[in-house]
Amino acid sequence: LDTAAIKKREIEEKTKTHPCYNCGAHEYARIHLPVAPHCNVQCNYCVRKFDCPNESRPGVTTKVMTPEEAFDRYISVKEKVPNLSVVGIAGPGDALANFGDTKRTLELIREYDPKVTFCLSTNGLMLPKYADELIKLGVSHVTVTINAVDPRISAKIYKFIDYMGIRFTGENAGAILLSNQLNGIRLLASQGIICKVNIVTLKGINDTHIPEVVSKMKSLGCYVTNIMPMIPVKGSAFENLVPASNKEVNAIRDICGETMLQMYHCRQCRADAVGRLDNDISLEVNEKQQGEPA
Ligand code: SF4
Ligand code: SF4
Repeated sequence: LDTAAIKKREIEEKTKTHPCYNCGAHEYARIHLPVAPHCNVQCNYCVRKFDCPNESRPGVTTKVMTPEEAFDRYISVKEKVPNLSVVGIAGPGDALANFGDTKRTLELIREYDPKVTFCLSTNGLMLPKYADELIKLGVSHVTVTINAVDPRISAKIYKFIDYMGIRFTGENAGAILLSNQLNGIRLLASQGIICKVNIVTLKGINDTHIPEVVSKMKSLGCYVTNIMPMIPVKGSAFENLVPASNKEVNAIRDICGETMLQMYHCRQCRADAVGRLDNDISLEVNEKQQGEPA
């Protein structure tokens, strides 16, 4: 077997033990390390004092850790949680808007544990810049939140993006973000990285457009799409937008399931989630750490 084939096989094995990418892997646990507080985008459904709702349920603010603190947490959780197979960076802001700390955290863990799966979630704005570095760091699974593939629709979803020192708004913001998201996924998928795309259902804004988003993701070689309901956050621009019901979200997933694999079991976890998807122990772990002498 050549190197590429070995790498491919390794990543396939990792997908089998990733509880988010394989709904049959529910006995495996993951840990999210909250080392990424900043964000370079403003989604209209987000209030930045909470966790990034692209990956995490809003309403809880996760305490941010330094890479060293995150490494210590990983070591202590690994000793206690059997079947810990995945380390993820999922906010509380955007993993790539805090690339230095994301990178340092992954390096510390990789030195200690050459096998554990690395997973990361991002809005995708900085993906073209960092895709190769992520691969070098050993990240095998990447989630990008893409709510539209039409800048006119994106303009209604994103208040602004901060890119190359400039704040962009409206369709310009949407076009830059979309182009970087698509190019980022192309770069990752072409090198065998498993890509998941999160799509937040926004009634009256992107709900009828979601099948088009999914078809585009399929054409780029994404592995699965995760269509999620929006959880309204008080103080956000979309606080009064009526959220799609589970039934409505499932109906969209069913339609899109004809195009590609759909995730039905996402828990919209916190940025410091720990444990199995059906048994999150992050609160226990947090309390314990706070109670420990410094
Ligand atoms: Fe909020 Fe996440 Fe959007 Fe950033 S990417 S504004 S943290 S929802
Ligand atoms: Fe998995 Fe969804 Fe939780 Fe992310 S938010 S760790 S995809 S279940």
